[in-house]
Amino acid sequence: MAYLATPTATGEIINKYGFHFQKRYGQNFLIDANILDKIIKAAEITREDCVLEIGPGIGTMTQYLAESAKEVVAVEIDKNLLPILEETLSEYENVTVVNKDILNVDIGALAKEKNEGNPIKIVANLPYYITTPIIMGLLEGQVSFHSITVMVQKEVAERIQARPGTKDYGALSLAVQYYVKPEVMMYVPPTCFMPRPGVGSAVIRLTRFEEPLVKVESERKLFSIIRAAFNQRRKTLANALANSASLINDKGDGMKVTRQEVYDALDKMGLSSSVRGEVLTLEQFADLSNFLSFPVF
Ligand code: SAM
Repeated sequence: MAYLATPTATGEIINKYGFHFQKRYGQNFLIDANILDKIIKAAEITREDCVLEIGPGIGTMTQYLAESAKEVVAVEIDKNLLPILEETLSEYENVTVVNKDILNVDIGALAKEKNEGNPIKIVANLPYYITTPIIMGLLEGQVSFHSITVMVQKEVAERIQARPGTKDYGALSLAVQYYVKPEVMMYVPPTCFMPRPGVGSAVIRLTRFEEPLVKVESERKLFSIIRAAFNQRRKTLANALANSASLINDKGDGMKVTRQEVYDALDKMGLSSSVRGEVLTLEQFADLSNFLSFPVF
């Protein structure tokens, strides 16, 4: 089987099977071999690796992964792609295709089963409509992984790696940066896909920290504070938190905090009472979370 990563090869296989692209599944297939080479390099795939691919499509990236990795598990929701994948991946014995919605797959269990509990690598040209649930599911779930190297919408890549005080910095940046080190590896124009998406793309690599960057009493409490701070990002942090009805403690109970309690915590941290959440680093949010003690109501 020839490589699929050209407009001609992709067009031919699609016509052969009378396949229709489904917009609702975010189907934009890669047709550029150079980009695929770079993705495999960025993911640092070796013969030791077990790789999870999310959404193999017609198998374009899967072919590259199969040639570099020990084993590949590819989870695809669209059953119309199964006969195509059977043909395009027929010569690879190290690939398993699973016909499921990735959001309903117990990835932790799958990784354990396929790689004896050793960390896997995740590589994908993601369906953009579910980028955040996929990434947060991997980060928050019990998945043993070394890195996640994925194509995402350019703006999402920029939000993920944004630093404090920039317009892109927000709850997603902090949630991701709590677990992994994000690096944008390359930008990819719409011309590298069939059909062309209406947005620019970027490949981002997320590498798991061996030790968490910050220590908190409760992750749930920390993330509820972060969400509350950015829900009303134009307000001061004290106002945003005091107005919030969605703060929770480590047990998931609803919490309330007064402006004065936030002022006291900010004072201990050497920050101004009028500071906005958008300038706080992850470490500062962690300190704030540890300083604020919420009574249950
Ligand atoms: N990997 C292929 C490539 O690079 O050419 C296809 C990438 S395409 C952007 C996204 C793929 O994810 C499609 O094949 C789509 O059918 C699949 N997909 C969409 N939603 C999915 C889901 N919930 N679970 C698994 N696969 C999904």
